[in-house]
Amino acid sequence: HNESAQQRGEALPRASRPLAAVTGAELQAPLIQGGHIRYANLDYGASAPALTVVSAYLNEILPYYASVHRGAGYASQISTSVYENARNIVRDFVGGRPDDSVIFTRNTTDSLNLLAGCLPVEDGRHLGEVLYLDIEHHANLLPWQGVPHRSIVAAGTLSETVSNVRTALSHGGVSLLAVTGASNVTGEILPIKDLAALAHEFGARIVVDAAQLAPHRRIDIAAADVDYLVFSGHKLYAPFGAGVLVGRPDWLDAGTPHLAGGGAVREARLDSVSWATGPARHEGGSPNVLGAATLARATQVIASLDHDEWHAHEAAIRSHLVEGLKEIDGVTVHQIFSDTDPQDTIGVVNFSLQGYDAGLVAAYLAAEHGIGLRDGRFCAHPLLKRLGLPSGSLRASFGVGSRLEDATRLIAGIQALKSNGL
Ligand code: PLP
Repeated sequence: HNESAQQRGEALPRASRPLAAVTGAELQAPLIQGGHIRYANLDYGASAPALTVVSAYLNEILPYYASVHRGAGYASQISTSVYENARNIVRDFVGGRPDDSVIFTRNTTDSLNLLAGCLPVEDGRHLGEVLYLDIEHHANLLPWQGVPHRSIVAAGTLSETVSNVRTALSHGGVSLLAVTGASNVTGEILPIKDLAALAHEFGARIVVDAAQLAPHRRIDIAAADVDYLVFSGHKLYAPFGAGVLVGRPDWLDAGTPHLAGGGAVREARLDSVSWATGPARHEGGSPNVLGAATLARATQVIASLDHDEWHAHEAAIRSHLVEGLKEIDGVTVHQIFSDTDPQDTIGVVNFSLQGYDAGLVAAYLAAEHGIGLRDGRFCAHPLLKRLGLPSGSLRASFGVGSRLEDATRLIAGIQALKSNGL
């Protein structure tokens, strides 16, 4: 048997790879090929296309695909080791503490719902409330509506917002502060280290929704003192179907098992059960081995990127797009906070065009210019309402496989829409 480096889970070199080495064909493809214009994918924020290294890895491990933890057979042993090793790779990627649990889930939404079932309870009553801002994606808003909670409206500046969070925490009774690492609507980054320190000052913990942050910035949860972190594979250049929750084991080991069933138990009796602790407690049923393995592989690739090139690449596309759009009459670029530094914004640009329905603009750009972007309310209805966009806006989002000319094409598409008087 010829076990590859990937199956043994060896780390890729860190922070040294040029972008083109991992995005392969995407970055290098000519703009016009065989009479067809290259599709400009400006929807990375929804799901990012799998990196070439990740899809190659998927093909490599496919022959060893068997059920984990359930067989002495050779393929099952390989699958089990790939799956368990994926936990260590992900823990390493987020700078997790040695005893942090790494639980594989379906996606970010699933991870946050899991955590909602693990909030501390005594005599059937929750020991505190969950505090969240109104800027959250529904995944980090709706799971908390089923438990004691309190929400606050973000202020016009980030500094004022942080101080409002402090005030809310200082009233006491908060067990968990739930906050996004970066807004999926505008791309603005939240100061998670400061927010973690605030939460702890008032006896609360913090969970960071890193669905958008993880694909764009390095995260070190031990250094930032973040208690729980969640993200999805499909936004991090891996296939659909796997997400993760990383964090302190005590609440997770005492919480309600997320999926009751095989694998989640220590001992099952006909009408009672003693549950397992550790990740198994929440991973009942046959897990998504390929999803977890490719998610972990993607984190290794992201960690291996040349940090400066990666950030400069995304920042250049963003500033080119923002500048170009702002020059068009009737275009407004939206932000939540007036004091965010463009450097503290991931590859997302949110905008609207006065007098035009966002859905029709998106359909026009797709049909006439081969551009894919997102329109609507981005699963953040309270925020869109507060931004004065109750019927939605447009969101261009990009990542390592994007090119400057994708942004140029979008700017030209909006200009053409206006000058054609459509
Ligand atoms: N949180 C944020 C900030 C997101 O952008 C998204 C997806 O758009 C989610 C959570 C939910 O992710 P998933 O659909 O993978 O559960």
